[in-house]
Amino acid sequence: MNWISNYVRPRINSIFSRREVPENLWTKCSECGTMLFHRELAENLNVCTSCDHHMAITPRDRFKALFDGGTFVEVSVPAPTTDPLHFRDQKKYPDRMKAAQKQTGEKEAMLVAEGEIGRTPIVAAGQDFSFMGGSMGMYVGNAIIAAAERAVEKKCPLVLFSAAGGARMQEGILSLMQMPRTTVAVEMLKEANLPYIVVLTHPTTGGVTASYAMLGDVHISEPNALICFAGPRVIEQTIREKLPEGFQRAEYLLDHGMLDRVTHRMQMRDELITICRMLMGLPPAVAGDLPAPETVEADPPAETDEGDAPAKDAEPGA
Ligand SMILES: [Zn+2]
Repeated sequence: MNWISNYVRPRINSIFSRREVPENLWTKCSECGTMLFHRELAENLNVCTSCDHHMAITPRDRFKALFDGGTFVEVSVPAPTTDPLHFRDQKKYPDRMKAAQKQTGEKEAMLVAEGEIGRTPIVAAGQDFSFMGGSMGMYVGNAIIAAAERAVEKKCPLVLFSAAGGARMQEGILSLMQMPRTTVAVEMLKEANLPYIVVLTHPTTGGVTASYAMLGDVHISEPNALICFAGPRVIEQTIREKLPEGFQRAEYLLDHGMLDRVTHRMQMRDELITICRMLMGLPPAVAGDLPAPETVEADPPAETDEGDAPAKDAEPGA
């Protein structure tokens, strides 16, 4: 029976316990339809390598690419009252929140972090469109205030990445109150003479465009981002006229003086470093770092067990 237990059984087991291949290795570009390999796409910051279409990116991934060495410290945001209106549509609001938290792995629709970009300390806030459409509720208001307060405390610029469908209707009037609240937060930065830079990403609409997203000292947008208060479909239905090509898109808004820059996501970091340093009156950033000085070891290296060193090539789920 040795042959059966030593050879046949492992083979059968291996067939039935075969590791499942992740299904999301390939992403289809929504613009040109090219299939993009996940690693290549992540390296290109979710920009299609074939047509340069900027796909959504989570604030966490964005911050990893933005901050020096991918290191940043999250700024804690005070939690607001949950479900103050006991709102219910098809689902209860707390259930909707739980589903969004589970899906995104984030607490809420905005992530605030501090760190350095090109050795320039900044505070950054990123809105997460995948979390209930990045909608602005009390938490987002608190997050912007926390970000502004931290920036004033650290005397550094605030960079905000906006992406939102507007105010969170589940919080009713309380979400609309975030418009004046965040405006006051931005005012705090202006009084402290600190730069506030807004990076508008696709899509930034509604009450967000009507408040903090349009109050920056510099407005940069990602290519082809939709930026508007009321969407083109609503306007078309109201005025019963065909709107011009590219209406309310980043390039159109740049031509019409609503934006300062339209910048590719891969160049965004360098541009932000330059702008932050210019506005803070700092000398230009060091373009490249010299290699770390070689440490001269007094003793010949002892033969140590390097088993504790983290494996560099370890890829989860590879
Ligand atoms: Zn594409």
